Amino acid sequence: MADTALPNVFGANVFNDRLMRERLPKETYKALRQTIDRGASMRPEVAAVVANAMKDWAIEKGATHYTHWFQPLTGATAEKHDSFIQPTDDGGVILEFSGKQLIQGEPDASSFPSGGLRTTFEARGYTAWDCTSPAFLKEDGAGNVTLTIPTAFCSYNGEALDKKTPLLRSMKAVSDQALRVLRALGDKSTSRVISTVGPEQEYFLLDKELYLRRLDLIATGRTLFGAPPPKGQELEDQYFGAIKDRASAFMRDLDVELWKMGITSKTKHNEVAPAQYEMAPVFSTTNIAADHNQLVMETMQKVALRHGMVCLLHEKPYAGVNGSGKHNNWSLATDTGVNLLEPGRTPHDNAQFLVFLCALLQAVDTHADIMRATCGHSGNDHRLGANEAPPAIISAFLGDELTEILERLAKGQKTSSREAAYVAIGVDTLPEFPKDNTDRNRTSPFAFTGNKFEFRMVGSSQSISGPNVALNTIVADALDAIATRLEKAGRNRNAEIAAIVKETWKKHGRVIFNGNNYADEWVKEADRRGLPNVRNAVAALEAFVTPKAVKLFEKHKVLSKEELHSRYHIYLEQYAKHINIEALTAVQMVRRQYIPAVMRFMTELGASVAATGKHGTVQQTLLAEAGELLASVHKKAGQLESEASKARSIADVEKHATAFRDKVVPALASLRADVDELEAIVPADLWPVPTYSDMLFKL
Ligand code: ADP
Ligand code: MG
Repeated sequence: MADTALPNVFGANVFNDRLMRERLPKETYKALRQTIDRGASMRPEVAAVVANAMKDWAIEKGATHYTHWFQPLTGATAEKHDSFIQPTDDGGVILEFSGKQLIQGEPDASSFPSGGLRTTFEARGYTAWDCTSPAFLKEDGAGNVTLTIPTAFCSYNGEALDKKTPLLRSMKAVSDQALRVLRALGDKSTSRVISTVGPEQEYFLLDKELYLRRLDLIATGRTLFGAPPPKGQELEDQYFGAIKDRASAFMRDLDVELWKMGITSKTKHNEVAPAQYEMAPVFSTTNIAADHNQLVMETMQKVALRHGMVCLLHEKPYAGVNGSGKHNNWSLATDTGVNLLEPGRTPHDNAQFLVFLCALLQAVDTHADIMRATCGHSGNDHRLGANEAPPAIISAFLGDELTEILERLAKGQKTSSREAAYVAIGVDTLPEFPKDNTDRNRTSPFAFTGNKFEFRMVGSSQSISGPNVALNTIVADALDAIATRLEKAGRNRNAEIAAIVKETWKKHGRVIFNGNNYADEWVKEADRRGLPNVRNAVAALEAFVTPKAVKLFEKHKVLSKEELHSRYHIYLEQYAKHINIEALTAVQMVRRQYIPAVMRFMTELGASVAATGKHGTVQQTLLAEAGELLASVHKKAGQLESEASKARSIADVEKHATAFRDKVVPALASLRADVDELEAIVPADLWPVPTYSDMLFKL
């Protein structure tokens, strides 16, 4: 049996710092660290030595191939495998991996979405090694081992074609501005500020045999039909419940696979809905967290298959029970190890904490539309605003105590806390607030949880890059403004911080909400406060191309106007494609599965009516009911088909996506309602697909 003892497993497949130090000449190691830690450019000699050491290690571990692994705008990852072999004159081969092969690749980029950034005659794209995210070995079920190099993916002209490039740029932006603030506050030791992320990943497991019998799950990742089961999640017996053996066996294998790749899988538990689970890693640097989350999603799907199950990452596989999200825990840390969102123990630390807190509030209030846009995609429309995990309105939860402290500071009042102290910025310490209090509200889309913010809108299938690009950039912008003020204030900086707190409270206090975000009253209250409530992806995505967004992203050199527009178009197009596939799938299931099943039922009923004569009143009623619904389903399938066809023919990308949203989505919902009604009257043995009860409760 394979050695699965944790100390021998963790990081076994990572070319990590320890290996680099062991296997690289001292000078090379030092030069590489300069590149990793300080962003110094890498000399070709250094790359050559690193590549060779990496190759030797990989081959010792059974690797035959290497790949530049990247994250195109599809949201998935891409890889092309090249073997290490290099033919020699004498008919043999040597194994080679050059410095150039390590740092740069040239995949044919023409089949990846570029949103007009790259014309096909310039189809070449470039992948460039992100040496801040360690190379690792990927093993597959067939026994292949591949040296995997995390890379960024750009066009010939250097435009970003992927999710990693802007993420790296945004990390630099927020570091630069945070550093200015720290310097203005007298910090001389920090040289870099790192944005950190811990993404909690929710998912469903489903028996593979059942999955294979549902075309909707195979083609769209969610059930397009399905009557509500008699038991849902109302008994609240699933959340944190004992994990059943089958799920537990999956989780154990998953952990081992993730640990091998250096992913710090930490927490696992049952989630709210039946057959729903969560895993959370220990947080790490944002780009590494993003790479790891992609690997988590990929590995979950692979490992589930080994266990005769399928892992569903869609935001809403089943109507009527909780959907899945990704809680994006985010903070800023100095390279000296200080969490900038942790309230401190000294007056100076607290002044610093308040400054960063104010920056966050200013950022999310000013750019709520952008944060919302990063979570806009078709699957997430079933969650956001649909009366479950976060509504479509961006607000920030601070907890009553912190809110009160902020308010009293802003108003220059004494605090009413137990100490009843007067808090003067930079002079006193904040009254300590118990951490537990900060995390009671699970309904807020953006919650302060004691030492980090938790952004809960992100969809379970989404890459976390987009949301973090936005977070880093909007916070960079707020810190930029604050830094300028503090730099000017000089010795008067405590007074300036007090002024910043006061202004933030006045201008951006509206974004703070500690109540129940699921309640209808909040929707009305948010409207009174002027907070945007954008209910669908198509409307949300527009926020990427407003003059405000272009100015913001260009100023911090994260995304250019062209890059923003290309992204906007790609995401609209993706939305339309997803809905189109849903429509085509629904029509096919209705015509080839549901209608024939209802006809069989009606034939049985007809025979029974003939046999029972005037006694067959129930049969007659059912026959009429089924007949009516059948006619309606038949008609609605035709309507859905024609709406989808009309929407497909619209060339303008915005109108195209809008037609899918306004015409196709409602047509599908209406068709579903009839099919679900039929499910309630057609005999179980005639129903052509597994039911919700089968899928949710038979694991
Ligand atoms: P929850 O109660 O929300 O389930 P957990 O503690 O299980 O919270 O998970 C929270 C996540 O937040 C973990 O991935 C954790 O590593 C992460 N986290 C903790 N501190 C930070 C931080 N400073 N920056 C980013 N993420 C953090
Ligand atoms: Mg959480």
